[in-house]
Amino acid sequence: MELFRLTIHELNELYREKKASPVEVTRQVLSRVEKLDPEIHAYLTVTADSALKEARDAEERFSRGESRGLLDGIPVGLKDIFLTRGVKTTCGSRILENFVPPFDATVVEKLRSQGAVFPGKLNMDEFAMGSSNENSGFGPTRNPWDRERVPGGSSGGSAAAVAADECVAALGTDTGGSIRQPASLCGVVGVKPTYGRVSRYGVIAFASSLDQVGPLAKDVEDAAIMLQAVAGHDPRDSTSIPQPVPDYRKSLRAGVKGIRVGLAREYFPPGLDLEVNGVVQDSVRLLEKLGARPVSISLPHTDYAVACYYIIAPAEASSNLARYDGVKYGLRSSQGKGLIDTYFQTRTAGFGHEVKRRIMIGTYTLSSGYYDAYYRKAQAVRTLIRRDFENAFKECDLILTPTSPTPAFKLGEKTTDPLQMYLSDIFTIPVNLAGLPGLSLPGGVSRTGLPIGVHLIGPPLGEEKIFSAAYALESEIKWERRIPEL
Ligand code: GLN
Repeated sequence: MELFRLTIHELNELYREKKASPVEVTRQVLSRVEKLDPEIHAYLTVTADSALKEARDAEERFSRGESRGLLDGIPVGLKDIFLTRGVKTTCGSRILENFVPPFDATVVEKLRSQGAVFPGKLNMDEFAMGSSNENSGFGPTRNPWDRERVPGGSSGGSAAAVAADECVAALGTDTGGSIRQPASLCGVVGVKPTYGRVSRYGVIAFASSLDQVGPLAKDVEDAAIMLQAVAGHDPRDSTSIPQPVPDYRKSLRAGVKGIRVGLAREYFPPGLDLEVNGVVQDSVRLLEKLGARPVSISLPHTDYAVACYYIIAPAEASSNLARYDGVKYGLRSSQGKGLIDTYFQTRTAGFGHEVKRRIMIGTYTLSSGYYDAYYRKAQAVRTLIRRDFENAFKECDLILTPTSPTPAFKLGEKTTDPLQMYLSDIFTIPVNLAGLPGLSLPGGVSRTGLPIGVHLIGPPLGEEKIFSAAYALESEIKWERRIPEL
């Protein structure tokens, strides 16, 4: 039986009925990685031995009639941005090539205590800056649907691994779209929760006012199970929300009767890819058929979102990345003559082009004389964007948009044009600026056989509403998890 193809909830059932064992599942997932990953390159580190040990522990628990819950014995991949005790964590950067953290991120700790099995660490754009995984310091991940194409980014390794059944589910991070955009390009479900819903303790920081952790999964139910497992207040992360976590799986079958689905005209510009538009319009019709009511809304400041993001995110990154100085951890250049020169040589050798570009932009926009013109202005615009959503949610319960303006593009297609690359996140970035939850689910496939995602945006802590609509939509789309030909 091809156990590696199954979802978390399907495996749960087999485990309960003793028709499959965690060791068998983990072995299958690991041999899948061995077979496919030389080409897909979703993994940066494979931890086969510890994964098998974790699987055996789960198996022993099961044989004693015990279980730690829905993730017990489930192989979960981790983006290489999450600190893992004793396991190399690079954040996709040469500057952390040999960094082995002394502790686990809170989310890793949570998954571990619930019995998850960890097959390894997943590829990503360096410091989560990118939309194609081509900024990884260790070579790009390829899209399992078409290996000449990118998987999206920055959680491209996570999305590709889930799509190719190289893990059952994965954890990623999303600062401007890094969970939802690769989920869309790889045909999986990805959730960016409300800012503060999930702890970021032990998650390597990119832009702290935007970063959020979330799941990539084979279906909506698995995404709900994963979010349930990692969400909640953490005293070690002062930005985490001190509110109880609802039972997300309960919300799955709530349906969409009477739900008002907002369609923002700014998200359907004249030049929008016809197939992307078609898939979103199909979803609107399906939701309508299920009893939802489409309403047109406006988010008037949408046009400024990308510019605003590319001031705020680099500003925060330039500050967060100051710690990689060759002294505290990671790479240290031996070429340096004295302290300042060692900083200089280490950062020159350790950071890639995109990261350097952002550090320079961020340092510039924060410097005295420019701060008011750029950073302060961007903060003001950010408030306007957040208010757009506040106003829109007076007229609707959820907002439906495309996730990405196009299906997966070719490797190399946008690497020489950063602006084109930045525009990949045009529909996801506003959600991070406003701190809202968003989910991407597979809505259909293009003529050339590439997945196209649809994007649901909710009000603050509106994850349950999003899950209800996504689950209803998923059942109608009958996406039956089309497995890419491999
Ligand atoms: N692609 C966007 C960027 O490069 C978003 C990345 C992310 O969400 N981490 O910043």
